Amino acid sequence: LIVVDSVNKHFGDLHVLQDINLSVGRGEVVVVLGPSGSGKSTLCRVINRLETFESGTITIDGQALPEEGAELAKLRADVGMVFQSFNLFAHKTILENVTLGPVKVRKMPKAEADSLGKELLERVGVQHQAAKYPAQLSGGQQQRVAIARSLAMKPKVMLFDEPTSALDPEMITEVLDVMTGLAKDGMTMIVVTHEMGFARKAADRVVFMSDGQILEQAPPEQFFTDPQTARAKDFLSKIL
Ligand code: ATP
Ligand code: MG
Repeated sequence: LIVVDSVNKHFGDLHVLQDINLSVGRGEVVVVLGPSGSGKSTLCRVINRLETFESGTITIDGQALPEEGAELAKLRADVGMVFQSFNLFAHKTILENVTLGPVKVRKMPKAEADSLGKELLERVGVQHQAAKYPAQLSGGQQQRVAIARSLAMKPKVMLFDEPTSALDPEMITEVLDVMTGLAKDGMTMIVVTHEMGFARKAADRVVFMSDGQILEQAPPEQFFTDPQTARAKDFLSKIL
C-alpha cells in the first residue's frame, strides 16, 4: 500500500533520511522504533508530504505523491495522521471536530457526517462528550477524538507519531486500546511509539531507525529477542 523507495532528505548538513526503503502492505501494522533524533518523525512527515524530500519516490496505493495542489489534498486525506499533541479545534465541539473534514474535504452531507461522527466517537469511547469542547476533556479523551477525526476521512493508512507521549500514564492504555482495535480491524498503520507492549502485541513488523537509516526490520518477537545490530541492542537495553 505504501512504498518508500530510496528516499533521501537533508536538513542543512544533516542527512536525516538516508536512502530509506520501506514497504507497508495493506492491513499491516509497522512500529517504528529508534533513539531520539533518528528521523522517525521526519519519515512520517515525508510520507504525508508535510516535509519535502530530495530524491527517491513514495507511492500510496500505487499513486506517486504529488508535490502540491488538489491532488495533494486528496492524497493527504487518504493518510490520517495523529501526533503527540492532539491539535483539536478549541472553539468547535467534539462532534464538530470530527465532522469538519468529511464535510469540507470529502463534501459529505452534514447529516451523514453527523451520523458517521457519532459512530466514530462511540468507537473510540467518547460518545458522551460529543457536545463538549476539547478543553473539557482529559488528554486521553482528546487523543481518542483526534483518532476519530482522522478516521472520519476514511483514510487508507494511519500514521501515529508518539500518540501517547504527552499523556499521563493512566490515559495511555485507553488510547493504545483504541489503536489495537484499529489494527485488529485491518487498518494499515505506521506507529512511532515507545510503548513496547503495543509493539509486541499489535505490530506485524518492527522497523528500527538510527541516524537516518533503517538498520533492522523484523517481526516483534524476533527484534526484541534477537536484535542484529549493536545499536538496536543498545537501544533495547536502555528502554526494556
Ligand atoms: P524523537 O524521538 O526525539 O521524536 P525523531 O526520531 O522523531 O526523534 P526527527 O524529529 O525526525 O527525529 O528528527 C531527526 C533529526 O532532524 C534531528 O536531529 C532533528 O534535530 C532534525 N530536524 C527535525 N526537524 C528539523 C527541521 N525542521 N529543521 C532542521 N532540523 C530538523
Ligand atoms: Mg519524533
